[in-house]
Order: sequence, then C-alpha cells, then structure tokens
Amino acid sequence: MNKSIEAIKLCKRFGAIEPVKQVNFTINRGEFVTLLGPSGSGKSTLLSLVAGLDHATDGQVLLDGQDLSRFSEDELALLRRDHIGFVFQSFHLIPTLSALENIAFPLYPVKMAVRKKRDRARELLAQFDLSDRSDHLPSRLSGGERQRVAIARALVNRPGIIFCDEPTGNLDSTTGKEILDLLLKLNTDKKVTLFMVTHDTNIAKLSHRSLYMKDGEVS
Ligand code: ADP
Ligand code: MG
Repeated sequence: MNKSIEAIKLCKRFGAIEPVKQVNFTINRGEFVTLLGPSGSGKSTLLSLVAGLDHATDGQVLLDGQDLSRFSEDELALLRRDHIGFVFQSFHLIPTLSALENIAFPLYPVKMAVRKKRDRARELLAQFDLSDRSDHLPSRLSGGERQRVAIARALVNRPGIIFCDEPTGNLDSTTGKEILDLLLKLNTDKKVTLFMVTHDTNIAKLSHRSLYMKDGEVS
C-alpha cells in the first residue's frame, strides 16, 4: 500500500547549527516529488527525519497520518523494515555479502520460510537483470549493478514509499538514466510514493513536483 508523508514545522538542530528550519510539506500517496537545493542546504538531514532514520528536534512527521515522534526506536525500525525503502548515492551494500544475500538481508528477521526468502530475492535479481551476478560480492559489481542491487534490496519488503538521496550521484550519465528509469517505473507501474533528493534539474523535470531547499528552509 503506497504511503503519504507530511512534515509540520519540522526542525533539526545540532548545537548551534540548524540544518532544518520549520519545514512544512505534504507528499501524497503515489506522488513522485524531487527535493533540490545546493550542497549543505539540509537535504540529507531532512530526508533522514521524514524517513524515520533520525528524530526531529521539533515539529512532526506524519507517515499516513501516524506521528513518527511517538514511535520508539524499535517501532521505527519495524516501520522502516516493513514499509520504507532507501536508496543512497553510495549504495550502502554489505561488502561481505553476495548480491543475493544483500537483497535478502532485510528479510532475515522476518518470519518466512528460508526458501521463500531466497525465492523473493531471486525474483528481484531477475527483475533487475542481475541473475548472473547472484553470487558476486559488491566489489565485483559495476556501479550500476550495485545500485540495482540496492534498489532490489529496498523493494524486498514491498515498501509503500521510497526515499532516495542522490541515487544517480555516483553513476555515469547512461547508468544514471537506467537507474532513474527503474525508479520511475516503480512509481508509474506500482504507484510507489517516491521522494528523491537530487542536484539534477533534468530529473526534477520528470517528477510530478519539486521542492527547493535553501539554508534549511523549504519552498
Ligand atoms: P545537503 O544534503 O543538502 O548537502 P546536509 O543535510 O548533509 O546537506 O547538511 C546540512 C548542514 O547540516 C551542514 O552544514 C552539515 O554540516 C550539518 N550537519 C549534518 N549532519 C550533522 C551532524 N550529525 N552534526 C552536525 N552537523 C551536521
Ligand atoms: Mg546530502
């Protein structure tokens, strides 16, 4: 089930630094929204708040109307595991696990037969054209293959919303386009809500709507 997200007067402070200042926005179910802004404007910090990776100093994040500030660390971890996908610029794969094992990793704590978990991971490998890379460690994959594994891993629990932080930032333009097409297809075909931080105004043009961040404020 796809998810909506709402930020209300959201603030984050680190001592004297306030990278997120009184931010308000709503992303509706099934929308693809990009977040643009210069380096250091607070985009990654904001993403970590709305994705339930970090707590806000002030204000609220509502995921389908549920206030994340009321969630304990354990509840947030379950919420992330079962409902949220993450794709980062630097892939964040586990270097000692194979492509298949990386994709299956979020299923380890899930109650499901081992064979079913493997089947689910294999299905995603095939979907992302990685079947012949199943046993490869991340170090033996190209950048595009690593990001495809990361996207497959993000999808293993069928999340309703995917947060991406510069998902094409470490890829050449052709590979970046391939990765973007995969993410777009998830939004178009599966109606997965997509919130993407990007520097790339060409990507922003493909989204339904863009938000702009500057000095911690969003417009
Ligand atoms: P962007 O993703 O737009 O480049 P960031 O959200 O990474 O920006 O950073 C915004 C500001 O917040 C920067 O000045 C950065 O140094 C600061 N910042 C981010 N995380 C922390 C942290 N954990 N502790 C202190 N300052 C931080
Ligand atoms: Mg950033």
